[in-house]
Amino acid sequence: MILTWYPYQLQFKYPFRIFHGIRTHTSAVFVKLEHKGCVGWGEATLPPYLPETQESVIEFCKNFSLKASKESMESWTELLAILDTNMSAKAALDVALWNLKASVNNTSIGKLLQIENDDYPLCTYTLGVSDFTEMQMKVADAEVTGFKIFKLKLNGDNDETIVRNFKKLSSSPFAVDVNQGWQTEYEALNKIEWLKKEGCILVEQPLHRSKLKEMTAIKQKSALPVYADESCQRLTDVEVLQNCFHGINIKLMKCGGITEARQMITEAQQIGLKILVGCMSESSVGCTAAAQLTPLANYADLDGPYLISNNPFKGMIVKGGKIQAHPLEQINAL
Ligand code: MG
Repeated sequence: MILTWYPYQLQFKYPFRIFHGIRTHTSAVFVKLEHKGCVGWGEATLPPYLPETQESVIEFCKNFSLKASKESMESWTELLAILDTNMSAKAALDVALWNLKASVNNTSIGKLLQIENDDYPLCTYTLGVSDFTEMQMKVADAEVTGFKIFKLKLNGDNDETIVRNFKKLSSSPFAVDVNQGWQTEYEALNKIEWLKKEGCILVEQPLHRSKLKEMTAIKQKSALPVYADESCQRLTDVEVLQNCFHGINIKLMKCGGITEARQMITEAQQIGLKILVGCMSESSVGCTAAAQLTPLANYADLDGPYLISNNPFKGMIVKGGKIQAHPLEQINAL
């Protein structure tokens, strides 16, 4: 087993503005795992609100490859399973291991996970907070590419303007992601009522992640389904959220990869929570792996490859609005 890592800056096609601030790029680390002539790629993508950095991911990889046996894939899987820190670094290694296993067995991650159905969900295209001209370019870009559903980032201040601008440009259904930007149950319920009339289909993370008491009341009264993102990081969060949200947004970078994401889906389905498989603007490495889980999801938000201008890989695509699985392929040197 040979592990190699490559720090990389994923550049956005358009600057990405959300409630937390504005970004032109996302730092990432690609990892390559080689064994018996086969290769498995993984990716840690590190938005600035996460505690991990390229340096901490590389440190994690160095320590891990010193500890793990050079001979066996199983020992890597076992060692990784007991590590419970550095979730983005863990996700990179977990995805690389799953890709390697799929490659060694000449199959896909989905088949290894016994996901047999191929009913892929609609995939949203995320519109960061944008002025009208910028939104116009992004919507045109997304519709030409084949997206049929959007996710508008709201920030609590200009929500009406953002929705009005979007509706001038597109008649497509849309979700909204508030990124914890609304302040009270009252504000949330009023805005949800209004958004339903405007054609919104779901609302992600309306209040601060800790406001679960308010979310319990909102779930009971809400005119639209509410999904947890910041409130739902790991498997241990899922059960706690049963009475607070209708669904959860699962991301590989939050939960440490495919292994725990699969367990979160099982748990969520058992307690009646809907599933959205999302990303943190990963390249095709992260999104192609996450796409393997999406036949189990109600929605996908795996638009990362479409938001990046220097994606060194290609893989999953969106066609007719839906996720379409494709094998991962490196197209540019790192
Ligand atoms: Mg979100």
